[in-house]
Amino acid sequence: MNGIFDGLFGNDATKVRLGTAIRTGTLPHAFLIDGPRGSGKSTLAFEIAAALGCENRESATGPLPCRRCNTCRRIFEGTFTDVKVLDKPKDKATIGVESVKEFKEDMFLSAGESDVKIYIVKNAHLLTPQAQNALLTVMEEPPSGVFILLLSESADKILTTIKSRAQYVAMERFSRQALESYLLDKVPEARTRRTSDPEGFGALLIRSEGYIGRATELFDPKESERIKAERETVKKFIAALDVRAPYSALYAVITELPTVRAELLLSLEEIGRALADMIKSKSTDGFVTTEFFLDADEARRTAKSLSQKRLLAISGILLETHDAISKNAMTAAALASLAAKIKLI
Ligand SMILES: [Zn+2]
Repeated sequence: MNGIFDGLFGNDATKVRLGTAIRTGTLPHAFLIDGPRGSGKSTLAFEIAAALGCENRESATGPLPCRRCNTCRRIFEGTFTDVKVLDKPKDKATIGVESVKEFKEDMFLSAGESDVKIYIVKNAHLLTPQAQNALLTVMEEPPSGVFILLLSESADKILTTIKSRAQYVAMERFSRQALESYLLDKVPEARTRRTSDPEGFGALLIRSEGYIGRATELFDPKESERIKAERETVKKFIAALDVRAPYSALYAVITELPTVRAELLLSLEEIGRALADMIKSKSTDGFVTTEFFLDADEARRTAKSLSQKRLLAISGILLETHDAISKNAMTAAALASLAAKIKLI
């Protein structure tokens, strides 16, 4: 879809729907834009904001937003005063009612630079119920020219009353092929990696889960090296699960796992995805979509020496360990217990 929201890849149905509504002046005043981190929510919100503020928005033929007028430029730079962004304070876990109140008061002040005012709430799933209720009153009857865009990673944390007053937009998830062609076209690091390290490239593609922003983050050289090392550890862990492997092998891998709790949890989740692939490869012939291995054949080959019963048992132990560590168990003790339980199977 050329010409509408060109800064956002794909999401064609959304682009047509919202672009047409903006051109005809019928855009709803509140949106709930939903999708995981890196799925383009913020990009879409700024495209909508620029399109609403664009000095050339009534031109039926030009691109929307035009990206050339003064307003477009400043909205994308983040210096336009009628586009306001609320996000979770760095030192807090939620967005509280106080910050929403300030935001709301601003909505009732007369428009500053243009005839529209756009309020973007990032991480809206972290708004406390109180904060959501405070927003609700203004969403029921927004002052004229006010648009509220809630960006959320999990719509189930948003009150039904809010949902009923906002138009829902789900960000598109791309197929691996579509994502691959986008990356090869736009991300130089992805091109280099596909040539120098095809397996690493494939792994990052899987980890991107169909979202461009996520892929762009992962293809950052530092992050991609970290993932490569993590993948090696996961593979060693799996090799050590073989009944014939010595206990020392399993114990050695465990000492390689990250010591920082949050990172350790991510590594355990990655092991969990590898186990899930192997379990699926044994139980379904038609299994195609892998979460860790590059393809179902690789999962099947790796799972060859492990029985389904053993894989399921290990998977259960892993879940228990993940749960204990996320509830603040001592990491070293939890991992030692993980190794001991696997040994006892
Ligand atoms: Zn413009």
